[in-house]
Amino acid sequence: SGQRDPAEFDASRLIVTLVKELQPVPPADEANFGQNMTDHMVFASYDPVEGWSAPEIKPYGPLTLYPASSCFQYATSAFEGMKAYIGPDGDPRLFRPAKNMTRFLRSASRLSLPLFDPDELLKVMKTLLKVERRWIPDQRGHSLYMRPMIVGTRHTIGIVASDRALLWVMCAPIGQYPSIGARPLSLLAVGDAVRAWPGGTGEYKISGNYGPTIGPMQVAHRQGYDQCLWLLGDKVTEAGVMNIFVVLKRDDDSVDLLTPALDGTILPGITRESVLELAAAHPSRTTLPGLSASLHIYPDERDITMGELQTWLAEECLLEVFVVGTAVVVQPVGRIGYKGGDLTLPAPEGGLGPVGKALHQRITDIQYGVFEWDGWS
Ligand code: PMP
Repeated sequence: SGQRDPAEFDASRLIVTLVKELQPVPPADEANFGQNMTDHMVFASYDPVEGWSAPEIKPYGPLTLYPASSCFQYATSAFEGMKAYIGPDGDPRLFRPAKNMTRFLRSASRLSLPLFDPDELLKVMKTLLKVERRWIPDQRGHSLYMRPMIVGTRHTIGIVASDRALLWVMCAPIGQYPSIGARPLSLLAVGDAVRAWPGGTGEYKISGNYGPTIGPMQVAHRQGYDQCLWLLGDKVTEAGVMNIFVVLKRDDDSVDLLTPALDGTILPGITRESVLELAAAHPSRTTLPGLSASLHIYPDERDITMGELQTWLAEECLLEVFVVGTAVVVQPVGRIGYKGGDLTLPAPEGGLGPVGKALHQRITDIQYGVFEWDGWS
């Protein structure tokens, strides 16, 4: 690549070193989320003199880092989460991966980490998928989870921009979302522990946002709930690591599809964005599976409060509540624990309502290459 700055992240300099002995791939139904990493990873390092090293695909294995590394002291660590699927042609596919790459770059930038060309990283990740092809389960509902990470490795005490970094991408085959399947989730509304706040970093996928959520999540589990519903005052923000949607009935039988606006406290989910775009395309550009072409859906990004949820429930105009994200795609919410009681939501027997179901079906059809849509897969 003659014209390219040698300090840049450059896919054409890729070095591939394969493992000597491949691990056996566990059967797809046993593949628990994140339990088994695949044989190889993408790896690159940045230093202030050479810039980015030639990216490598090499055996997955331990790292050697100084204890004073910036990532340990100051949480200069950002990551992404995406999935690869096998399409009908037998080839691996990714769902809107350029969006993950842009978000990854934005997260790294928020932490003043060395930047990289997201298109070049994506090229190397696509090569990794070819190397790891045998690890991608080809059953519907199964996929290969890809976890890109970048961490600051400058090893001094000062709180300054890390001029050293490691970037890697590891993979793990996954099945259906563990132990949940398609059943309605129960959420515990949490207002004392706050996931994100105005002016904070909730809209970035940085490690420091996630560690502190584990404690409140354990509390929710102990009380019999699947996940936390993160509140900010009375405002609903997100649930677990998923964005939340509410479907409301209008007088004329059309529906509103509401989700909190991206005000800085919400992770801009790629599934969220896709849901909003697909809903807006119905029925003018496409008819979503199982929905009538006469049903009009009005997507809206706006505040949703617990008080409003209670009112809509009492007035019987609340049709569906569901959460969306890479892990679950679209999953119904059946119950929300709030102020010592439970809001029981109208979840039809065992699953999603018509709007959630249509979106789940369409998105997974696109992910598995059964339905082509705007080059999303
Ligand atoms: N919210 C949070 C806090 C998340 O970590 C994620 C997962 N990235 C999401 C929502 C869903 O985003 P996506 O649809 O891009 O997976």
